[in-house]
Amino acid sequence: INRIGVFTSGGDAPGMNAAIRAVVRAGIFYNKEIVGIYRGYEGMIEGDFEEMDVRSVANILQRGGTMLKSARSKEFRTPEGRQKAFDQLKNKKIDALIGIGGDGSFTGMHYLFLEHAMPYICIPGTIDNDIPGTDYTIGYDTATNTAVEAIDKIRDTALSHNRLFFIEVMGRDSGYIAINSGIAGGAVSIIIPEEETSIDELVEKLNRGGKKKKTSSLVIVAEGGKSGSAMEIAQKVKEKSSYFDTKVTILGHLQRGGSPTYFDRVLASKMGVAAVEGLDQGKTDSMVGISHHDIIFNKFDDIMNQPKDIHKDDLRIAKILSI
Ligand code: ATP
Repeated sequence: INRIGVFTSGGDAPGMNAAIRAVVRAGIFYNKEIVGIYRGYEGMIEGDFEEMDVRSVANILQRGGTMLKSARSKEFRTPEGRQKAFDQLKNKKIDALIGIGGDGSFTGMHYLFLEHAMPYICIPGTIDNDIPGTDYTIGYDTATNTAVEAIDKIRDTALSHNRLFFIEVMGRDSGYIAINSGIAGGAVSIIIPEEETSIDELVEKLNRGGKKKKTSSLVIVAEGGKSGSAMEIAQKVKEKSSYFDTKVTILGHLQRGGSPTYFDRVLASKMGVAAVEGLDQGKTDSMVGISHHDIIFNKFDDIMNQPKDIHKDDLRIAKILSI
């Protein structure tokens, strides 16, 4: 492998820049040429490429977002779109790919591998931490810290007015950001997609808190929950109990931005180096992951048909601490 194309795809996540930097620098360290591909699969289809050197990635380690930009591409979902992308890669003599993104991006690379034998390694970059085969994805730690900071601020105003706040956090179908920002932010209840939540039980719990003269309560709601959005849950609670002055805050895209934490920078740096080394050692159709501090590689077929369950102990601890 001589020339590696690097790109970011799907939702952006803090730490993607640190991963790009690590891929470029490790590539140069191992005497590879690195080509940056702009705007994910969209730029791949259009041939929006740029040769990268050590200086192309100076001063990006601490920045949120992605300097290569990200996109979602409908055309790449079709075999014709992938043929166009492959032709562009061949033209540029790119003989392997490192893509940083979520499960959709990983699936796209897998198809390119099956149809055109393009070697690749996926680096998991998404704030949702919803990809099996790794303890952590790049961006999750930063997004959770951002959520905790926001929760702390909302607690100040909740306390001052004896209010009940429903705070909606991101995570798509995964409750990782919710459960851990909820534990760290001292939530009275955490509603996640992985668990059924009974509104009656929630009301009962909030009432118990009210009777104990709890002066404020924070309920964290994961955006993808089966019980509805924070707005809907707050409405249902209001209907069943006139006890509370309820407010809803949706944290939204602020969780995507900002300077990555040390954890995400180090994770991205390790994964970026490992991806280059993995390709060099003949690994392909795989994702780099981290398990108990060690770098691991998993084949697409071995992990992508499995759900990523929430850590059972997180649930247990959240319940014990919110009595
Ligand atoms: P995030 O988790 O942050 O949303 P993601 O990588 O899962 O990131 P998606 O929008 O699902 O984001 O996927 C990114 C791109 O990958 C899509 O726009 C599409 O071009 C490609 N892709 C996704 N799924 C497939 C698929 N089944 N076949 C081919 N390409 C796909």
